[in-house]
Amino acid sequence: MNKRQFCFLQVSDRLLNPDDKSNPADNYFKAIWPNMAGEGYYRPEHYWEIPTWIAELSHCLKDKDHELMLYHIDEICPDDCGARSPHYPVLPEADIYFASVMDCNKEILARIVHNNPDKQFFFGGYIGHKGFCEIFYPLGNVLWCNNTQDACEYLDLDYQYGTDYRLFKGMKCIPRLTLSNGCTNHCKFCTVPDEITQVPYPSIGQQTEAMECLDFELVYINDKTFGQCHNYIELKYIYNTIKAFNPKFRGFTVQTTCAQVERQEIDFHVLQIVNVELGIESYNNEILRKYNKPQNTRSIDRAIDVLKRWNVNIIPNIIIGLPGETLNTYVNTWEWLEENKQDFLMLNVTNFVPYAGSDASDIVKTQPGDFNQTVCERSYHTRQEAMAVGVFTNLLFDLGIEIIEATKARSSGVYDEPMCTKMPRYCNKWPCPGNEESKLEPDENGFMCCIKCGGSYGKK
Ligand code: SF4
Repeated sequence: MNKRQFCFLQVSDRLLNPDDKSNPADNYFKAIWPNMAGEGYYRPEHYWEIPTWIAELSHCLKDKDHELMLYHIDEICPDDCGARSPHYPVLPEADIYFASVMDCNKEILARIVHNNPDKQFFFGGYIGHKGFCEIFYPLGNVLWCNNTQDACEYLDLDYQYGTDYRLFKGMKCIPRLTLSNGCTNHCKFCTVPDEITQVPYPSIGQQTEAMECLDFELVYINDKTFGQCHNYIELKYIYNTIKAFNPKFRGFTVQTTCAQVERQEIDFHVLQIVNVELGIESYNNEILRKYNKPQNTRSIDRAIDVLKRWNVNIIPNIIIGLPGETLNTYVNTWEWLEENKQDFLMLNVTNFVPYAGSDASDIVKTQPGDFNQTVCERSYHTRQEAMAVGVFTNLLFDLGIEIIEATKARSSGVYDEPMCTKMPRYCNKWPCPGNEESKLEPDENGFMCCIKCGGSYGKK
């Protein structure tokens, strides 16, 4: 029987974001990886991180009668190109082609679909159903999937949450691990669902094991505000599981709020957390109040003190372009960053996007171009606001470069992971308890195995 062939299409970042030396944001984001390599920051060739949707859908398509492939679109003929076949790039043969459509790649994907009228495409993504209908519906050979469940339903497959990274085998990256979804904070610029849902334990175990084929030093915890969902304490066991198959694993990066850090409930060392992304957004109380961010400048400073005492790396998240920010408020944020720069590993900078579904989408009247995440020009900015954004952007990315260069100078040559050679007495894989119940004993071939889960540790 012929296998069913499924091809994941991913538009390469090289095509979407060609080098632009005149753009300070582009210079900063491209400088992160060479400067942060000593801190375990690995970047795949075609994207910032492995597209999670591909790993999740691959998990549902796991079947001996299915063949999966990944195709990176890193070049495309311009409309007026007469030299090449109009069908360039030539897609590999497959029964179904999947892609995730965003504002930045929608035109490229529309061209691909248009050039391949005999092929069947399944698309989903941030563009949403309305955006999809405007561009892809008239082409006739594309189906819209709201999510992975939808795709499974069309294909008559059982949906099961999980990840499968075999298409990315050996790839240098920072994989994501989800312990929970949602956040209870209701910041007005955010579209994350209000309700916390905990990921079941077997699924956490599956996600962890799936990482074994990847090349990484850090794992990014996907939980939106780390600490809100109490299963976070499992990290100490998950760390041992990962360390057993990947000796160069350093620990976790989490994202959280100042309020959460101030509560001092999280033991960063026991949980093996090495990096904390802290949602600062703006160092101005009136802006924080306006957007319902549950903190003020005093609590921001207290949270920084707590993290410094834990000696974890701090990465402040800053937003550019929130309506209401002025040159004065931006200067306050910049001055605070400048005063504390020696305590930061790097800066995380995002442009405000008034996504439909966030409370902030009602604050401004938008045009289609306002949803582009990679640029900060917005139709609703006044001339003064646009000028302030421009000044802040330049200052912020200059400071960002200074911080990551200092990080590189600190970290280069310092990291030297000791070899893990000693055979443990008890199983250290999650969720084994690490006591007599999970003792290691030799099997019939002399391999040391856990009496509880059967996990093998090799020969003594
Ligand atoms: S704390 Fe973060 S995830 Fe939670 S609502 Fe605010 S911005 Fe969204």
